[in-house]
Amino acid sequence: MKRTTGQSPAHTSKWRPATQMVRGGTMRTEVGETSEALFLTSGYCYDNAEEAAARFRGERPGMTYSRLQNPTVEMMEQRLALIEGAESARATASGMAAMTAALLCQLSAGDHLVAGKALFGSCRVLVDSILPRFGIETTTVDARDTQAWAKARRPNTKAFFLESPSNPGLDITDLRAVADIAHDAGALVVVDNAFASPIVQRPLEHGADIVAYSATKLMDGQGRVLAGAVLGSEQWMNDVYLAFARHTGPNLSPFNAWLILKSLETLDLRVSRACENAQRVASFLEARVPRLLYPGLASHPQHALAMRQMRKGGTIIALHLDGGREAAHGLLDALELIDISNNLGDSRTLMTHPASTTHASVSAAIQAEMGITEGMLRLSVGLEDADDLIDDLDRALKAIGL
Ligand SMILES: *Cc1c(COP(=O)(O)O)cnc(C)c1O
Repeated sequence: MKRTTGQSPAHTSKWRPATQMVRGGTMRTEVGETSEALFLTSGYCYDNAEEAAARFRGERPGMTYSRLQNPTVEMMEQRLALIEGAESARATASGMAAMTAALLCQLSAGDHLVAGKALFGSCRVLVDSILPRFGIETTTVDARDTQAWAKARRPNTKAFFLESPSNPGLDITDLRAVADIAHDAGALVVVDNAFASPIVQRPLEHGADIVAYSATKLMDGQGRVLAGAVLGSEQWMNDVYLAFARHTGPNLSPFNAWLILKSLETLDLRVSRACENAQRVASFLEARVPRLLYPGLASHPQHALAMRQMRKGGTIIALHLDGGREAAHGLLDALELIDISNNLGDSRTLMTHPASTTHASVSAAIQAEMGITEGMLRLSVGLEDADDLIDDLDRALKAIGL
């Protein structure tokens, strides 16, 4: 295995993002394949016993076991790091494996975590119920309120954890201001960037220390596999993340890594088109529904901040209908093209009712805290023709009298 012919790492790291998405991290075997090879292997063989011993001592390069290294997974990780502008990336089996590992690797009993209130349902369960079982203290704050982060700090605060834009309310956090507050207290900032992807927002450029992904969403982008990733500095990855993950095994399978690797080739094309579609659909819906949130529209209360740290408005729209669950379910049931699905970031446009699906695992009080109402719907805009999406929504809105 070697880096693509004539391309030293020093050379490849200068490539512009579109080139990194197609070629970043590629290694070729002596066969010279154009498309990256899929190494479905759990282990590796050695020419002699001393070679095995030397690799285990860390004195010779080479792979030893796929929980620790795998060529296909490594290509995906390197490509992702290049796209994100991070020193290092590690792939995980799901987004939740990424969030759990990114937090547990650095927190111990007696440490304190501050997190945004508006989080993906399972992230909120992690913060509220799972981490405290291990003696980790947690506080949740309104992530839009920069001063709330400052007030929540304690002497034992080790990390901040947030989503921006948040799922499903599309709250925006001022990444730079919050990172300054964290760093002032000696804490690290972990950003769950699933809603944006590196095409829309690169949190490391705004002061974040660690970026974690559900790669199930925009990175796969075709609704096929679960995957996740954790990105940060080389030193943090080696000393903190790998000290935990090498032994706890949240790894991504090489097959799923290969799918994500291939999907990254079209990440910019797909996300850019989905954002254009979302902007058009949001403009259409804005005139028809009582309340709508989309970071790319001037009507979003944090539009100016969103446009400072995001390159586009994203692919997700939140709609609030009067008439509660009945109206929301009525609209879903009247759709003909758009699917009812709680997945997001797919090439297919998908709509869900968060209160009864993605956020059903958190209490009504916590739902209210996150801005989830019974009349709220989350629309994940995909790659169909925007006019077909608008026609479908127009028909469904008429069906419920809007
Ligand atoms: C989907 C999602 C997750 C969890 O990812 P999985 O791949 O489903 O485990 C975490 N955070 C956000 C913001 C998500 O949208």
